[in-house]
Amino acid sequence: MKTVYLDHAATTYVREEVLEAMLPYFAEKYGNPSSIHHVGRSSKAVMDDCRERVAQLLKVKPSEVIFTGGGSEADNLAIKGHAWAMKNKGNHIITSQIEHHAVLHTVQWLEKQGFTATYLPVDHYGQVSPDDLEDAITDKTILVTIMASNNECGTVEDISKLSAVCDKYGVTFHTDAVQSVGYYDLGLDNDPIDMLSFSAHKFYGPKGVGALFVRSGTRLEPLIHGGAQERSLRAGTENIAGMVGLARAMEIAYEEMPKAVPRLRGLRDRLIEGVLSDIPDTGLNGHPTERLPHNANLYFARIEGEGILLKLDMAGICASSGSACTSGSLEPSHVLAAMGIDTMLIHGSIRFSLGHRTTSEDIEYVLEQLPPIVENLREMSAL
Ligand SMILES: *Cc1c(COP(=O)(O)O)cnc(C)c1O
Repeated sequence: MKTVYLDHAATTYVREEVLEAMLPYFAEKYGNPSSIHHVGRSSKAVMDDCRERVAQLLKVKPSEVIFTGGGSEADNLAIKGHAWAMKNKGNHIITSQIEHHAVLHTVQWLEKQGFTATYLPVDHYGQVSPDDLEDAITDKTILVTIMASNNECGTVEDISKLSAVCDKYGVTFHTDAVQSVGYYDLGLDNDPIDMLSFSAHKFYGPKGVGALFVRSGTRLEPLIHGGAQERSLRAGTENIAGMVGLARAMEIAYEEMPKAVPRLRGLRDRLIEGVLSDIPDTGLNGHPTERLPHNANLYFARIEGEGILLKLDMAGICASSGSACTSGSLEPSHVLAAMGIDTMLIHGSIRFSLGHRTTSEDIEYVLEQLPPIVENLREMSAL
């Protein structure tokens, strides 16, 4: 049976070109960048090169790129690191109700350490209002963290406007851009964004490596103490192979963006339109236009998303309900709930996220498989 993988928002495979670029850095070029000798120095040169290439793509300075062990760690470093560094100035953090758990649970943990937090609501499409943000800022606010785009519903936030509000009040703005990098330009050269997290395995790089952009002058305490690596913000011998993989994957993503994004959007729109026209009582969750090009989050009334997922899996199709981190639990998605979507419809929601190998045959196959599955499940649930 063929596999149709439509869960790229959960993770992606490592692309051939990326794997090839990484391979020499395990057994042949293994030096520790901190070593004085030539084996170490050559690793140091590779690391500097990766940092420069990533910085160039983001249009920032190389010294502003801190490599981490992934997106969750980048979020933790930004939020805990800045909160600790600023705790004499204030203790209030603002975030949104639809953040990834890497942000949400980090802010909740800080609340237990004496910080206070505001969780901004979103509209029906999943967007945070810049006016709500402005109203929530107090003289105790030290950090605002709002994601660039949502991993479940696919909605893209207006981080240009949101960061401008923070700038007006001199408040640090962090964004979790794990889902955004590789799909659109993040505007770090134009917008007052102070910190931005991303992760290689969401754009065809390896798992366990990510980065945090930290604008010069933004104060941070490290989470991992030890050596002076990553400007003393993350101790530990560097993951050179991971950095090479991240940099290469990011370059490819940026190179291919002008072609890949319209292609994905076309396939995604065909999927959405096919489902909405062929299957009654279905709908799209999230923003109709301000959304990631590869994300289709759809609801199927009167059935459980988990049931559809199991049947799709039997047909070789991999999709997801909610985020990879919450699927398996019966808690309705906090993202769709915050958008005011009916609990019954949340339970019947499925996320399809397309990728670089997805073809129109794949989409037609899904559109062929889905209607009988939905019909069958609806008959069963009516019994
Ligand atoms: C995947 C994801 C993360 C976590 O990144 P990891 O590299 O898996 O730790 C954080 N935020 C968002 C929005 C994500 O999609």
